[in-house]
Amino acid sequence: MANMKILMVICDGMADRPQDELDGRTPLEDASTSTMNKLANDGQCGLMNPIGIGIVPGSDTAHLSLLGYDPYEYYCGRGTLEAAGLGIYMKPGDVAFRCNFATSDENLTILDRRAGRIASGTDDLAEAINGLEIDGVKIIFREAVEHRSVMVLRGPGLSSKVTETDPHHEGQIAWKSTATEPEGEKTARILNKFTKLSFNILDKHPINQARKAEGLKPANIILARGPGGVPDIPNFMENHGLKAEAIVGITLVKGLCRILGMEVPEIDGATGGADTDLDAKMKATIEALSDNDFVLLHIKGTDVFGHDGDAIGKRDFIQKVDDELGNLIANLGDDVLIAITADHSTPVSVMDHASDPVPLLIHGKGLRSDMVENFSELEVSIGALNIIDGQELMLLLKGLAGWNEKFGA
Ligand code: ZN
Ligand code: ZN
Repeated sequence: MANMKILMVICDGMADRPQDELDGRTPLEDASTSTMNKLANDGQCGLMNPIGIGIVPGSDTAHLSLLGYDPYEYYCGRGTLEAAGLGIYMKPGDVAFRCNFATSDENLTILDRRAGRIASGTDDLAEAINGLEIDGVKIIFREAVEHRSVMVLRGPGLSSKVTETDPHHEGQIAWKSTATEPEGEKTARILNKFTKLSFNILDKHPINQARKAEGLKPANIILARGPGGVPDIPNFMENHGLKAEAIVGITLVKGLCRILGMEVPEIDGATGGADTDLDAKMKATIEALSDNDFVLLHIKGTDVFGHDGDAIGKRDFIQKVDDELGNLIANLGDDVLIAITADHSTPVSVMDHASDPVPLLIHGKGLRSDMVENFSELEVSIGALNIIDGQELMLLLKGLAGWNEKFGA
């Protein structure tokens, strides 16, 4: 029998806890999800600890794990992933940071960490910083969505062993970076000079002058966090023997998939938010399955509602995803094994990631079924898969899809 293709659908942060607004149900339980329920009914389910029992996963470390990599061995820092997501490829010795455009006064006291969620003009502001040099170290700087941006430092003697400059709270002075290991001293020094320089350049930039004139918060300082070095991660194709593509909107997961050597197309309308064009992503997924062995479909919106503490919004978004998955499934051949899960829980009541395990369903023609009838955090706990570790998922899927070699005669 020919091997099956594998479609892994990750609804970011979809898993949740019982919520009062939903009469004690989770958003997934409360949503009407006929597609996922049908797949769960015909397929097999269980729970999954994305990284390990009690570990609160980041999206990046969780995705590494779900794609079959030990995050404790291969995690290279968020800055690196964001840079790759924006198409900046790092050279040996480079250090990357994820950055915010923020609002500061002349004492570098941070008045708004997101510069009033600035929505336009950051390309020109980034242009004013990109290419600067500090003590022989080149600054590569690019804007991302809203107030977000990415910086790569390139030059001799750099290291990611430094602390961040983002104080995480308004009213504090931008933090001074310090070395966490002796090799980080030069980088910390450069970063501190950069913080001041960014204010000196950006505060008088015409875009910020115009913002101030309009009563908007100027994006006049850059705060850096998530330092990361150059990744050394085995290629997905070599590691798993699967030709792979990822359909994803957010730069963080895009970057990871690019670093793993997966094909990552740019999809119009895939914003990485709740307003994403799900229909376009489903179409791209079907196309990707036609010439790949493995496709990752990542949907971010579920996590956004979790962080916003919006139970109803999360439930409604899950329902929308389920509708779209219905269209997707109707267009899939019998040769596709589909797994649906989350990279972590983002309970509405926590407004952040939590360590609770996530529900997992696996469906493929001819595979076993179990007693689970509905896809939810609670009900999957009676499923045939019991509780697995995120790092076992790829092995499990490859085994069921016929990709694993026989052990012994
Ligand atoms: Zn996530
Ligand atoms: Zn999140």
